[in-house]
Order: sequence, then C-alpha cells, then structure tokens
Amino acid sequence: MVAEQLDFYPQTELQTRYVDIIDLDNINLLADSKIFFQKKAQNILNEREQKLVFGQGNDVPLAINVLSTVQKYLYEDNSSKKESYYQAIEQDSSRLLLEAMRKNSWEYYPPVYEEYDLTKNDLKANEIYLNEVLVNGLSPWAHKEEQAIRIQEFIEHQINLEIINLLLEDDSEVILLSIKECPDYVIDEYNNTNDLENSYGGYVPEVEKMVIQLTKLSKNGASIEQIGLPGKNINHHTIIQFLNEKQVLCNSDLSKMELRQKQFIIRNPSITILDIVAQLDEYSSQKLAKNVFLGEVIKAQEEKNYSKAVEQSISRQKTIETKVKNISHFLIDLCEQDLNPIVAENELIKYLKKILFEHVLEHNDQAKTIFDERTAHNISIINNLIIDQKNDQALSLIKSTFRSAPRVGFCGAGSCGLIAINQFSQEAKVVHGLGLKGEVIKDTVRVCVFCGKKNIFYDSGGNKACASCKSSEINKKIKLNLRKSA
Ligand SMILES: [Zn+2]
Repeated sequence: MVAEQLDFYPQTELQTRYVDIIDLDNINLLADSKIFFQKKAQNILNEREQKLVFGQGNDVPLAINVLSTVQKYLYEDNSSKKESYYQAIEQDSSRLLLEAMRKNSWEYYPPVYEEYDLTKNDLKANEIYLNEVLVNGLSPWAHKEEQAIRIQEFIEHQINLEIINLLLEDDSEVILLSIKECPDYVIDEYNNTNDLENSYGGYVPEVEKMVIQLTKLSKNGASIEQIGLPGKNINHHTIIQFLNEKQVLCNSDLSKMELRQKQFIIRNPSITILDIVAQLDEYSSQKLAKNVFLGEVIKAQEEKNYSKAVEQSISRQKTIETKVKNISHFLIDLCEQDLNPIVAENELIKYLKKILFEHVLEHNDQAKTIFDERTAHNISIINNLIIDQKNDQALSLIKSTFRSAPRVGFCGAGSCGLIAINQFSQEAKVVHGLGLKGEVIKDTVRVCVFCGKKNIFYDSGGNKACASCKSSEINKKIKLNLRKSA
C-alpha cells in the first residue's frame, strides 16, 4: 500500500519515531527520482543555452510569456476547448490581480484543482497540461537563481506524478507541504537599486513575500491551497525553527534555496495550512515580543481569528470579477495586435497600475497595501482637495502621485528583465532616431543578435532597435547598420 511505501522507506532514525511531517528526501524511492529529474531539467536548459550561443534565440522560450494562454485561446477552433482556455485566462488574471491587490499583506488562495490524465500521465487545468508549461519555464533568459527555481518546479511536478501513480490502486491521499520564500537575488537587487519601476521578476522584495503551499494528491489529481505571507516578521529563521521543533529537520539549517528544493509529507491529515501559519505566527510573536497574525504585527490584545480571515479573503475574491474580465480582455487585445510578448508584459503591468490606482482613489484604505504609505498619504490629501472643490489642484496631485507610485507587484512569476527608460535620456534619443516611438523599454537580459551587446530597446508597438550597432526592426522590417558600431 502507498502509505507504507511512502512511510517506511526512511534512511535515518526517523524510522524509530513518529513525527507529523517528514522530509520527502528521506524516502529513497522519491529521492532517486528527484536526482533523475534534476538532470533531465538541467539538460533541457543546457540545450537551450547552446541555442542562444548560436544565435537561435527565437527557438528558445521566454522567461515569461503573459500571452501564452491567450495565443492558445485565439488559435483554438474547438469551442469547448476555447471556453476552457478562456477560463484559464480569467483564472490567471484573477490570481495576478489578487496578488497585486494584496502586495504588502497576506492573502489566502483557496484550493485549485488539477485533473490527472492517465493517458498522458500529466495533470491538467482548464485543458492546459502542466508538463508543457513547466518545460517552457526552463528558460535560459531567466536569472540563474530563477532557473534553479524553475528546475525545482519541474521536479516537484514529476514527483507529484510519481506519487499519483503510486496512488492509482488506492483511495488514500498524500499531503505535501512546500515553502517558497522571496529569493535572495531579488531582495539584494531591491536593496541595491530600490528602483520603483523595476518589476523584480514578479516577486515582492519590499515585504520579502513568501508562499506556504499544501498540495493534496490522489488518484484523481492534485488540489493546491496557498497562503501568501509578508516575510519580515515570519522569516527564514522562523521557518527553520518550526521545522526543527517539528523534528522534520534534525538541528540543521537550510539556505533559502535548499528549503525551496524540499517537499515535506504531512502524515497527520488533521494538520491544516492555517495550523502551520498559526504556529509560525506563534514563534514569530515570541521572538519579537509582539502579537503577530498572518505575518503582520497587530495590537497586543487583538484576537487572531484565522477562519474569519479566510472568509474575508473569499468575499474579497468575489468582488473583483469585473476587473478580472477587463484584464482578460486587455490581454486578448494585446495578443490580437500581435504584440511581442515582452512588450505585452510591460503593457500589462502599466494597465494593472492604472486600474489599481483608480481603485485606491475610491478605496484609500487599500492604498498602503497595494502601493505604499506615501501614495496612501497623497490620496487622502487628494480626497480633501476634491471635498473642498479644488479640482485643478486635485488633478495635478493625482497625476504626480500616479507617476511616483511604485509598480504593482505580484509574487510567483519570473522576470523578463525589462526596464522603462526616461524619455529624455540619451539612450531614448538614439533609439527614437532609429524609428522607435513614444515610451521605450530596455531589455536588460537579452543580447543583440547582430552585435552581441545588451542594448536592445522596444517601443509599445513592438518595434525593436539596438542602441549599440543601430540595427532595427520597425514594422517587422529588419534594417542592419553595417558601419562600425558605436
Ligand atoms: Zn546591436
């Protein structure tokens, strides 16, 4: 039986004591598979890296493609599949919006289901198969640390499939815990640059956002439940303390990356995701001598009502339907315009900032969570100006506050390394001279295929130019500058 296969393979003294949570690496069967899939993922990445070196960059998946599901939707003829793809677009848009709306705070994400398809030995949600998504995620365009995270996601998926295969003859469930912290490279970049416009690879370094995840596996598929937590009060140290006290680890320390590379089996099915968060809150409260609830400090006497917090999340999630539909249609429009996915991501981030700024003008109490304290402060001044009918002053403060408000943030995507460039900078002048129009963004990851320098710019029409060798691609026409480059 599965329970036996998964329980009684431990290599260590765990065999002799019963603990609620065990490290999956203690199960020989799965630890071997992990090594096998690690190599497999690394090989895929290496092959793609080689393609980049030989100038076949167009054959290599981007670090992130916000249009990949939309492309599926637009080119699908079968109406029921098309409907499923549309559902997937809405599901992604809803998640993106919720993450952005709760940027600096916690949020509960109810279980999402992935159905097991025996013929393909894969999980699918809304007709989208996960193997394809995860293999596409293995992109050499991504930051090295991000690549390690993508490899881990690929391995986790393969391990989940192995466990589901063990469960096929069985009615039991296996519950896995994983903890995904904000990567150090993102926090370092944030501390070093503190750039309001940087998208920080889709992470939220401002509060070092982390995700606690429970995955329930059965022969029918997987159900994934998550809580996003600000990671300043509950931090890496708190989590290591939790794992040591639960005897999951034996007085050992793990780096953030090592922790991310682990999955833990919860053997006691009565443990919920809220129990884990409550325990982390407790450790953090003791250490800080403050009252910590869902990773945030609350008043000393305030009650910690976890089930009420979950109810709040769920009712909040019901209020965003219109915005979700708008974002979905925005993405479909971008794709119909045949925009480069890199440019599309930038357009999406700008659009989200716009709709969320409009949202906080009406809901000032949320401005601090979505943007920051300064934005919240300015919006209360704006509201007072409007009450006093000083509309011109209000309008000019709205404009400047919008410009200086930080980017929207969401946790869990990967960077494509784009930054917006000041329209009056020397670089902007050069690429405007080559035919780019309006706002331009610089690609900080990819190199120019003609000169090999990292100096490519895009405009919102998807036109592209290299400020080093002055080659350009305007309205899909490539123009090379063969004179010696600057
Ligand atoms: Zn060039």
